[in-house]
Amino acid sequence: MKKYVSISILGFLLLSCLAFKFEPINSFPLFGKFIILDPGHGNEDPGSIYNDEFEKNYNLEFARTLKRTIEKYGGTVILTRDGDYDLSNPKAHSRKRSDFDNRIKLINEDAPDLYISLHMNYLNDPKYFGSQTFYSTVNSKNELLAQKLQDRLNDFFNFKKDYKKIGNDKYMFSKIEVPGVLLEYGFMSNYKDRKNLKNENYREKLSTVICQGIIDYFT
Ligand SMILES: [Zn+2]
Repeated sequence: MKKYVSISILGFLLLSCLAFKFEPINSFPLFGKFIILDPGHGNEDPGSIYNDEFEKNYNLEFARTLKRTIEKYGGTVILTRDGDYDLSNPKAHSRKRSDFDNRIKLINEDAPDLYISLHMNYLNDPKYFGSQTFYSTVNSKNELLAQKLQDRLNDFFNFKKDYKKIGNDKYMFSKIEVPGVLLEYGFMSNYKDRKNLKNENYREKLSTVICQGIIDYFT
């Protein structure tokens, strides 16, 4: 009897090892996918401001964490900026317009499988928190991506925000032809979002949720 038990245990261990051996294949669901992350603002353009805190810095930190997380899932990622600068030409008449134009050019020319522009929201009422996706109708895949991301984000934040169409005034997003969304991943105007987003563990958790949404979109 003891012998059979030992054999069963051995068999179980062997199966566990096999399962473990094959697991890494499934843990790279974004292998072969090329993603551009676009942290908004930079340099003279701080984005939203709360006291002495600038949105541009939050965007960069979050983009870096999201990049690492996507890479853990096997994806290839580049950032439109990886420092405190914007993409405007130094002699540009309109710095903001030039920054947009160069982001548009970079994303269109590199033709990733998808892009995500990262920004924070700001409302006068500080009670609003959490992430929301916005899409333009330029590429027909944008809405699906916005929906898949929002579904996962709604589960994570335990709320029911709608993914929304970007208004016509969003110059940049009307010119990017490859699939992608604007992700307002948190509120500068909300204490908890600011506090959470300073924490690498939280940024990793939120990044993992976003990766799940990206995987849903591709599958
Ligand atoms: Zn912004």
